[in-house]
Amino acid sequence: MVGAGLTGATTAWELARHGFHVRIYEQADVVGGHIRTEWLRGIPYEPHGAHIFHTNDAEVWQLVSKLTEFVPYRHRVTIRVRSHELSWPLQKCELSQLEEWPEVERELASTPDRPDLTNFETYCRSLMGETLYDLCVRNYTMKQWGRAPESLSASVATNRVELRDDGYRGLFRDPHQGWPKRGYADLVEALLEPAEIHLGQPITYGNLTELTLPGEPVVITSALDDFFCSELGPLEWRGVRLESQFIRDVKLAQPSMVVNEPDLAVQWTRTIETKWALESLHDRPGTVVMREYPGASAKHYPVPDSAGVNKALQSSYEAQLAAHTRNPLIAAGRLATYSYINMDQAVRQGLDAARRIVKSR
Ligand code: UDP
Repeated sequence: MVGAGLTGATTAWELARHGFHVRIYEQADVVGGHIRTEWLRGIPYEPHGAHIFHTNDAEVWQLVSKLTEFVPYRHRVTIRVRSHELSWPLQKCELSQLEEWPEVERELASTPDRPDLTNFETYCRSLMGETLYDLCVRNYTMKQWGRAPESLSASVATNRVELRDDGYRGLFRDPHQGWPKRGYADLVEALLEPAEIHLGQPITYGNLTELTLPGEPVVITSALDDFFCSELGPLEWRGVRLESQFIRDVKLAQPSMVVNEPDLAVQWTRTIETKWALESLHDRPGTVVMREYPGASAKHYPVPDSAGVNKALQSSYEAQLAAHTRNPLIAAGRLATYSYINMDQAVRQGLDAARRIVKSR
């Protein structure tokens, strides 16, 4: 296994359950990848950004909730537009408080029946009209992705940008939703319990001869440009950097776990207060609020460009993976498949990767 994040750990768990001996190599000196939770004075915070577990995959939910205790949590997000604090996703019934409401109302009356899937911008404009798009989406997206919204694929928006009129304030509608009471590292460590773990060891294809026997399967969950030493060129990634502040004496500092900031004059994209996830802590004084700044070098988001350039380079790396004959190489997870997936999909891909190997042996 290459990488001890959520996907790698799940693959390791499933392979071990089928009697395989699993060796897992992680480049960082801790396990858990980007979902690691940290604690300060008993308060949780997430140095790589907010993670909320939500799924309609019963098997995935059963697995993760068996390995660590999840408490019920329905994720809510607020978007700050000047002095207005609106729900995200936007709710039609809240929009009349905006000074721009007359234009917004007029534009909403003439949106097409089906959104225009040409690119991210055409999709959002056809969903909510130009004024609302300019206020809530355009600038946020430029900050988040560091590129023009029309150069992004509509796929960024299809599952993540909505205009609602049903009053439901939860971000997700999945039947299973929660937050791990002891943080995500506890889940990853439980998944890794049967594995032989090596830390601080980045692995590239050049290491396979010394570390594996011919024919031994290898599951790669690191980015393929890293695995192949950028031989075909670097893939484009978008990273975020979080600044965390402990605020004494305050129980909860903001109206929801996440507050989005679409204003271009504000340098960060959102603030995150993880403590919202654990209701049992809400009465305790002290909280951690993080500001999320876009544009760091970390590989948090693959960039789905509308021209498909990044996907094409990923496909070339995948062809290189398939052409490697000494070991069967399987890519799984957000980094290795260069896909903007959620945690439950990462777990699902881990299970599927393990089952492919079990079946082939
Ligand atoms: N988005 C936006 N305004 C917001 C929140 C999100 O325009 O207030 C857009 C933006 O393009 C962003 C995408 O929706 O990249 C997905 O946002 P979400 O917060 O769901 O993504 P996450 O970073 O949590 O995966």
